[in-house]
Amino acid sequence: MENKGYVMGGLALLLIIPSILLLMVLVDMLNLDKSVDTIIKSDNSFYISGDVERNIPIITRQVLKEVVDNATTTGNSLPNSRIVIKNAIEQKMNDLSTNYQDNSGITVKCIINSVDSASDPFEVEVNSTILVMKDNITYNHKVNHNVSILGTYPQNKFSMNFNSSTEISDPLPFIKCKKFGGVIIKNGRISYGSSLKNYLGGVNGSEIYENATSPYYIKKCPYDPYKSHGNSTKFMTLKNCIDNGYYHESSDGACLLCRLEGRSTCNHFGFETFILPSTERNQQVIRAPCSIDHVIFSNENLNDQYPGEPVQYYFNGNISYELFLDHGHKSKYGILDI
Ligand SMILES: [Zn+2]
Ligand SMILES: [Zn+2]
Repeated sequence: MENKGYVMGGLALLLIIPSILLLMVLVDMLNLDKSVDTIIKSDNSFYISGDVERNIPIITRQVLKEVVDNATTTGNSLPNSRIVIKNAIEQKMNDLSTNYQDNSGITVKCIINSVDSASDPFEVEVNSTILVMKDNITYNHKVNHNVSILGTYPQNKFSMNFNSSTEISDPLPFIKCKKFGGVIIKNGRISYGSSLKNYLGGVNGSEIYENATSPYYIKKCPYDPYKSHGNSTKFMTLKNCIDNGYYHESSDGACLLCRLEGRSTCNHFGFETFILPSTERNQQVIRAPCSIDHVIFSNENLNDQYPGEPVQYYFNGNISYELFLDHGHKSKYGILDI
């Protein structure tokens, strides 16, 4: 009897071992199922996160356009353009995210951490965090975009009502001249009428800015290095640049975000353009406010405004086309050694 007991015990043990092994395999398979499921879920989240991410530059560009258009229409500056733009992007991004929630039960949130001037003055930098949540899994993704302010841009479903150009204009002349008679758009350029002369308030030579003009849309000058402007035959490059209304990189001129706040200069790397004086003149002018936009508009401190000497960039046999430039800007555009 005692021996039989041992045999039974041994048999039971032999049966238990495979059972344990089988259980281990089953547990392992269950775990495997769970991890496969996790991968599928995070893949889906990754796909949605990418889709949301692709919309950030499109919506940023659209918000920039709307904010600038509002400033040019009203002539009002913004107290803090970065915060206004950041909040507007975030709101539009979350309107977009609710679509995902409705369709898939996945919660998507896009937090815009910051909007700021980029190291390239023709870009705006946007830092965001995308959160995708389903069941107990949260996928968290930080992204950074440098959004160009140049040229036209593809429209998305939020800009269906747009019937004007998607190009971004320079808000500064509209803000600066609001109280001096405003400006109008004529032949694709900003036309100042008497407002710029009034703005300059009787400074020596300010009368040449009666009926002055400057570019409307921000376009980057392709003539690089800039010294080639003046180093060309008969200033042809300078004339082409002026005729096309190009903007140049400038450490003195304000960036787009600071222009929206009504500032002509700022600490960021910005841009500048030429303001063309009227060609109608009764007598020769030898000294007038410098024809660079950030110099003319630097009335925050009168000492920032400085004069320039005439530079004839074109003569058609009858009319002399002139800019007024100081030593520094002559040197920048290669006009100095003529
Ligand atoms: Zn140029
Ligand atoms: Zn700035």
